[in-house]
Amino acid sequence: MKKILIVVTGTLLCVSCTTPDRLPVPSGEVAKVSIDGRPIVPITFVFTTNSPEATKFDNYQQMRKEIKILNKYYVDDKNNKIFKFKLHRYIPYEEFSKLHCDLKQQINQPYPISTETIPASVNTCFPKRTASKEVIIFIYDAYSTKWKFEDVTSRAFRNNGQPFILLDWNRLNYNIQAGSVHEMGHVFGLKHVCAPNATKRTPTNIMASAECKRGSGGLRNLGFTPVQLQTIIENYQRYP
Ligand SMILES: [Zn+2]
Repeated sequence: MKKILIVVTGTLLCVSCTTPDRLPVPSGEVAKVSIDGRPIVPITFVFTTNSPEATKFDNYQQMRKEIKILNKYYVDDKNNKIFKFKLHRYIPYEEFSKLHCDLKQQINQPYPISTETIPASVNTCFPKRTASKEVIIFIYDAYSTKWKFEDVTSRAFRNNGQPFILLDWNRLNYNIQAGSVHEMGHVFGLKHVCAPNATKRTPTNIMASAECKRGSGGLRNLGFTPVQLQTIIENYQRYP
């Protein structure tokens, strides 16, 4: 009887130790597939603005919320989740303000940003990515000549496989046309799609845009099509 018990216990132990998800991950590396099989995208948030209204969002709890938003809305057209977005790092304004690099002079300033020089600044500020497939989201305060700091323009940069997003703080909390979800579409190679006659209340694809002049871009609440999904996965695999 004793012998049988030992054999049974041994077998159970073996089953659990050969389950790939339970394998230890070397420090400094992140497992690329989550327990439920979705590819992992580690997210680093950098809070770069100390504008008085934005400051209330500069906390760990909000960053957790932003991860939940990405996981909830970054879906295909059948509402299947695509990635497992994970909070990797959070750099609050206080920490960002102490970094010695010129990104501070390039964003949150009362002049339009230069999209040509920003990638170099980001690469100087963050020379080494600390996780495979990491995406950095800089929360900032957009400025334009027309709207001044009322501007909410957000942008994505693929930056040779070291992608990052500039997300206006007004678009946190899934506010204003799915900001983070839409930009994350650009990160993985997607272009805009036209949404003819869309009003601000029309359900549209996540990548819908007013660029085609005939629509507003709409709600951007419809998941990625099979063709878009293929582009996303191809780019994910290509990133280091
Ligand atoms: Zn866009």
